[in-house]
Amino acid sequence: MTNYLYQQQNWQSQLSDLITDPQELLSLLQLSPEQLLSGAILASEQFKLRVPRAFVGKMKVADPFDPLLLQVLPHHLELEDHPEFVTDPLGEEQANQQPGVLHKYKSRFLLTLTGACAVHCRYCFRRHFPYQDNLPKNEDWLNIKQYIESQPDINEVILSGGDPLTLTNRRLQSWIERLESLPQIKFLRIHSRVPIVIPNRVDEALISILKNSRLRIILVVHSNHASELDDFTCRTLNTLVKHQITVLNQAVLLRGVNDSAQVLVDLSYRLFDAGVMPYYLHVLDKVKGAHHFDLMPQDIDLIYKEVLANLPGYLVPKLVREIAGEKNKTPLFGVSTA
Ligand code: SF4
Repeated sequence: MTNYLYQQQNWQSQLSDLITDPQELLSLLQLSPEQLLSGAILASEQFKLRVPRAFVGKMKVADPFDPLLLQVLPHHLELEDHPEFVTDPLGEEQANQQPGVLHKYKSRFLLTLTGACAVHCRYCFRRHFPYQDNLPKNEDWLNIKQYIESQPDINEVILSGGDPLTLTNRRLQSWIERLESLPQIKFLRIHSRVPIVIPNRVDEALISILKNSRLRIILVVHSNHASELDDFTCRTLNTLVKHQITVLNQAVLLRGVNDSAQVLVDLSYRLFDAGVMPYYLHVLDKVKGAHHFDLMPQDIDLIYKEVLANLPGYLVPKLVREIAGEKNKTPLFGVSTA
């Protein structure tokens, strides 16, 4: 099916028809099954392949090195052990106050309402996160409310991954209404990759929920490469911007995907076409299974310096690393990235 046809299909049916079989993905892209070296199927069993057909439609046919494909195709190197690469690289178990609540920073905390994502990114730092023990139920709200009220510094809630935009509009709205009932909460940040991989998720009902909220909404999408941003996706993101919703982008610097200044410059300009501001460029979190996406610190420095030299300052994403236990992300430019 071409992407034009996906534009006519509602997001719920796209979400229920994800590609989960690596062989099917390769066959759609006219790639040979040998592309999956031994071990890739086992890697897929450990962290399942999930990718929407609309996102596959943005990949280049017959290109085994397509940067979008490399982000989602299970790889035998995921099975290799590297001592620095661990299951909880950001120490989130320590920050897990109660089901759904991850409190790492002073004025804001993460609420994980679902463990589901529309796409499984092979480099995801939460690929081993025990979501099944951490999802808040409706009856947990009173405890969450008490927790927020006991922390007067909190003024922002971040809905994060799993991907909050895999929730139905009704469920999303009911959680937003709960948060709106607390006067101390002023901002709601939603971190989501769904508008990139299934742009139709941005439907009228979602726009209405976001634009009518008392809270100041900031949607942080996650795109790593300009090829993810076709015209339809850009128009969709721009619709949100036109409704006064702040839309920012965070990317992860990944070997083989976007480890070139030109690719990052193109990404920033493409985001700006859509009215989206580049926000963060994350250095890879050292999660078990993602070692093959890692870059040498000196290469990161070189790439970032070239990005700085080629973009106006307002389009340069902040290069950061998250360090377990730190009270904010650590800016890296001019600092060793080791
Ligand atoms: S949480 Fe985000 S980065 Fe991780 S798999 Fe889901 S969409 Fe990808």
